[in-house]
Amino acid sequence: MDRPEFALIDWIRSRVTDRDPVKLGIGDDAAVLRSDTGRDWLVATDMLMEGVDFTFPPATAPLVGRKSLAVNLSDIAAMGGRPTAAFVSVALPIDRGVEFARDLHAGLLDLANQYGVVLAGGDTNSWDGQLVINVAVVGEPFGERSITRRGALPGDWIFVTGALGGSIHGRHLTFEPRVRESKLLTELVNIHAMIDISDGLAADLHHILEQSRVGAIVDASAIPLHADLAQSRDDRGPVRHALSDGEDFELVFTVSSTDGQRLIQEWHDSTPIQCIGEITAAPECWLRTPANSLVPLPPLGWTHPLDGGDLIEASSHTDP
Ligand code: ADP
Ligand code: MG
Repeated sequence: MDRPEFALIDWIRSRVTDRDPVKLGIGDDAAVLRSDTGRDWLVATDMLMEGVDFTFPPATAPLVGRKSLAVNLSDIAAMGGRPTAAFVSVALPIDRGVEFARDLHAGLLDLANQYGVVLAGGDTNSWDGQLVINVAVVGEPFGERSITRRGALPGDWIFVTGALGGSIHGRHLTFEPRVRESKLLTELVNIHAMIDISDGLAADLHHILEQSRVGAIVDASAIPLHADLAQSRDDRGPVRHALSDGEDFELVFTVSSTDGQRLIQEWHDSTPIQCIGEITAAPECWLRTPANSLVPLPPLGWTHPLDGGDLIEASSHTDP
């Protein structure tokens, strides 16, 4: 696995067996729980730490509150679900005062209201450390079933919402979780597999490939490049950034080629979608360069500071 903590998560996972009411536990964007109504419950949780996930400045208390909820809304959206309720636990730095804590929650509540999510509980502590905030979100699938990382099939087309790269220049704090887009997609087509981009397009696509036991060919010239990349001043080119920058919080998903064609014709939302490649039966992942040659595409992301660096352009990592 890739990140150091992935080895730990694997160890934890080896000691846990999914059983009723858990239909899908550790290993996807959210857990899927059975409910008595026959409809699934989705549960996601994510912790943000000052100094790792954000720093003050450029972050502000309202923006951190907002982001701590937004990353979870993104995970629920990636399961094809609507977020409904949130739980917030904070370790507040003792010296920052109550105004700071209110601003943090005000930012979170603004986003919760925007998405019709009810704040339903949490835990408040203070200590002489930096800010730590954990949010857990409950949701339900838009359609009959949840969408996991497991269902990609050979011949599927790979799509991505929005544009990628350069989120470190500010977007990682202000991004819009793709909840509306997830709802529209589940209504329009049969999504086979989906994930949100937190580690980087290449790294997160690899999660779909591993769990679906398939491979992919990604077309470098089809990857939508974000305008924020103009602010990235290093020797890595825009495609390299778009493949490996983390925290885009866009959706990557696969559909049959028939559904792919329909999507291209019938998608009229303000958030664009783009077909970036195809799923293959052979389990390798390749990048088709603009010169039409295939180079291996490793799971580049902020957790892969040097892997495969010479394959596309120079390499490094981006971690907001
Ligand atoms: P994401 O990037 O989508 O938030 P993570 O990489 O943080 O997902 O986690 C991968 C999977 O491991 C998720 O299903 C998550 O719920 C699970 N997980 C992470 N840490 C733990 C833990 N300490 N105990 C149990 N499950 C965990
Ligand atoms: Mg995720």
